Amino acid sequence: MASISIIKEKCVGCKRCVGSCPFGAIAVIDKKAVIGPKCTLCGSCTESCKFEAINFVRDEIEKKDLSEYRGIWVFAEQRYGNLKSVAAELTGKAKELAADLDVQVTAVVLGSDIKHLSKELIAYGADEVLIMDTAWLRDFNDYVYGEVMIDLIKEYKPEIVLIGATSNGRSLAPHISSTLRTGLTADCTVLEIDKEERLLLQTRPAFGGNLMATIVCPNNRPQMATVRPKVFKPIEPDYSRQGKVTLLTAPSPIERFVKKIRDIDNEDGLNLADADIIVSVGRGIGSQKNIQLAQELADALGGALGASRPVVDSGWMPYSQQVGQTGKTVAPKIYIACGISGAIQHLAGLADIETIVAINNDPDAPIFKVANYAVVGDVKEILPLLTERIKCIK
Ligand SMILES: Cc1cc2nc3c(=O)[nH]c(=O)nc-3n(C[C@H](O)[C@H](O)[C@H](O)COP(=O)(O)OP(=O)(O)OC[C@H]3O[C@@H](n4cnc5c(N)ncnc54)[C@H](O)[C@@H]3O)c2cc1C
Ligand code: SF4
Ligand code: SF4
Repeated sequence: MASISIIKEKCVGCKRCVGSCPFGAIAVIDKKAVIGPKCTLCGSCTESCKFEAINFVRDEIEKKDLSEYRGIWVFAEQRYGNLKSVAAELTGKAKELAADLDVQVTAVVLGSDIKHLSKELIAYGADEVLIMDTAWLRDFNDYVYGEVMIDLIKEYKPEIVLIGATSNGRSLAPHISSTLRTGLTADCTVLEIDKEERLLLQTRPAFGGNLMATIVCPNNRPQMATVRPKVFKPIEPDYSRQGKVTLLTAPSPIERFVKKIRDIDNEDGLNLADADIIVSVGRGIGSQKNIQLAQELADALGGALGASRPVVDSGWMPYSQQVGQTGKTVAPKIYIACGISGAIQHLAGLADIETIVAINNDPDAPIFKVANYAVVGDVKEILPLLTERIKCIK
């Protein structure tokens, strides 16, 4: 973890560091510099002290091999088959940057009925156009587009990705960068290349426009930046330019974007909504193991098992079995409430029930106010007796 401290013996109170902190975090008190709570550990002040009185310890950063990342990508935003102007603007800028890195510019277009856009993108400077043309990409969705882009970036490994700072681009770019755990600089106004380090120098206004900050992303790839429309001028289009066009196979939307988490129907047992008899357990059942006692009674009666919310919240029973305001509304002929207090939110799930039987060890439990039959006692003792009795009658 990064840290900063002032070495008091070395500090002469010259105040040079005070002005160097963009966050106003340094003050000189009694001729000694003091770092205040506004410090963001940005490290800007370290160079300012000639007396080496600022002890700044940076985070150790694991060195990664980034050499397999090559090329510049432009997310070429389109709407209903028409390119957004920022796509051409960014493609032209990318061409300029690519010359410094000696790499290609690839424009990536996602959508439906968009194959014709490749010509325009090549004319505006793209060397290659990757097109994913499928009906389910017709309308922009930041999650779906983001996941497609993430898969493509993982496969093709571009070193730079430029995205227009349109409303779509502003939601797409952070989805990609946060998932890929890489840097993103929003609303850049200047983009340049540090040839030696192969770094994208991303300049944007900072501190309310009071200074221009140049941001780099040295340890992760791709380097990502968004740029507002009209910041860069597109190059003069050259429709005689040749480029490569690659039609990508779209993943199946069901497999890629819909994940089956649980098969609720199969875990239900007898559906609560269809049951004539429900034996429902509350917190008074005591433990998950004791639910078996209620299950045995339900089986003996040919009924279903229900639960109050705390039982579900504890993970003792699935949510599909919860009765109440935020669970299911049930209308069995007989409802047997076992260790359930009868809170209003639970009772909200009981519709038009002929007979309510309540088992509770508290004679004042509210459930008894709505119950037709009240059994005061320990549910763990009463349930086996009831089951036994039903079995005998049968
Ligand atoms: C917005 C909202 C929505 C909600 N939706 C729901 C909902 O859909 N369904 C739902 O159930 N709740 C819901 N609740 C929660 C609700 O308010 C109650 O907290 C809940 O119903 C209480 O569940 P319980 O009766 O199992 O537990 P408790 O209220 O703790 O009652 C346990 C009962 O067991 C008795 N008992 C203890 N030991 C024994 C024993 N050995 N033998 C016999 N009896 C014993 C106690 O006397 C007590 O009456 C909701 C709450 C909120 C705020
Ligand atoms: S610049 Fe160095 S010596 Fe001067 S006040 Fe700051 S910490 Fe102290
Ligand atoms: S590390 Fe950054 S924020 Fe903290 S005192 Fe130095 S310049 Fe200010």
